[in-house]
Amino acid sequence: MTRCGIGYDAHRLVAGRKLVLGGVEIPHSLGLEGHSDADVLSHAIADALLGAIGERDIGHHFPNTDESIRGISSIAILERVAEVLRRHGAELVNVDATLIAEAPKIAPHIPAMREKISSALQLAPERISIKATTNEGLGTIGRGEGMCAMAVASVEQP
Ligand code: MG
Repeated sequence: MTRCGIGYDAHRLVAGRKLVLGGVEIPHSLGLEGHSDADVLSHAIADALLGAIGERDIGHHFPNTDESIRGISSIAILERVAEVLRRHGAELVNVDATLIAEAPKIAPHIPAMREKISSALQLAPERISIKATTNEGLGTIGRGEGMCAMAVASVEQP
């Protein structure tokens, strides 16, 4: 059986935080606020993966009330989610994700993000698509108050 999952996440941009997207630290004046490293792209992918096997969501598996995971790297979250998939006998087919952010320029960092996500998920980089777009200045994302990301994932499950 082929199954697919969808994921969405959003985080607020604030001063004094590192900006981590797809496991890659990107130089920027602002960073995303959150309990973990707030890697919005990895979070959307994690939710898509969990959704594909009907295993609830990232908030269930990694609650922001759990002090033991404060500041957890989202690449570590992806590694743990990949383990959950393996336990369910699900084999990853592909991941496609879009980051929506006004700044900074994301394109130069996409190859490094693919590599990071590839090794976290043990999935060939060719099966991982990372895209980025702006919101054309529209709304809160367009004003640069935050970033959001969407992802889909498909898996084969016997
Ligand atoms: Mg999140």
